[in-house]
Amino acid sequence: MISNVRVESAVLIDWMLRFADKIVENKEMLTALDAAIGDADHGINMARGMEEVRRRLATYADDDLGALFKTIGMTLLSKVGGASGPLYGTLFLRMGVASVGKSELTDGQFAAALAAGVDGVRQRGSARLGDKTMVDALLPAVVTLQQALDDHASLCDAMEAARRAAEEGMKATIPMQASKGRASYLGPRSIGHQDPGATSAYLLILSAAEAICHATRSDAIAEPHPG
Ligand code: ADP
Ligand code: MG
Repeated sequence: MISNVRVESAVLIDWMLRFADKIVENKEMLTALDAAIGDADHGINMARGMEEVRRRLATYADDDLGALFKTIGMTLLSKVGGASGPLYGTLFLRMGVASVGKSELTDGQFAAALAAGVDGVRQRGSARLGDKTMVDALLPAVVTLQQALDDHASLCDAMEAARRAAEEGMKATIPMQASKGRASYLGPRSIGHQDPGATSAYLLILSAAEAICHATRSDAIAEPHPG
């Protein structure tokens, strides 16, 4: 039997630690993508922010998920800089507002919190689908996540579907011409390159899928065997 995962502080911290590892591992790749259509700092910006998040979470002990997301959001806001710092900061601050006073989220609450975060990114940056930004990875992910949960998928399966949608969205930025952010200054010369922010956003969704599916399996193992 597949058990339902408890989306609590430990799972969300695992998500963030996995994201930090992936950002640091892919720092040069993200910076190379930004060198092609921006100013070659996206990997550096994100690694600076996520290394600080990792430091703060190492000793973090507060069950309130609102406080956890607020800590992550404020850290990214103050450390990342560029266009992506305020956008990722907003994503987590909004997830925090959606999680205030909760020590655990249901599948639906987790999906709603992530959707609120992505809404925050869209409001703050006013980017739409097709503008060649992180929204092209994030929005398909949250839409697919909600659809899969509506179809009664487990949170792990729904996150795996969301991960695939984010990956497709990330790759779909290659033929797009940028109309938001620094890459838009290049006009048609932005075509043919994968957007760096969509790439880090894919890593965010990938990390969430990994953390949630890992927690699901650990729960299933911990469950007493029936009969
Ligand atoms: P900067 O462009 O200031 O150097 P970064 O290099 O850290 O900042 O981040 C660039 C990424 O930010 C882009 O690849 C894009 O995905 C994202 N981005 C830029 N502007 C916007 C916006 N208005 N809305 C959403 N995402 C944006
Ligand atoms: Mg840049």
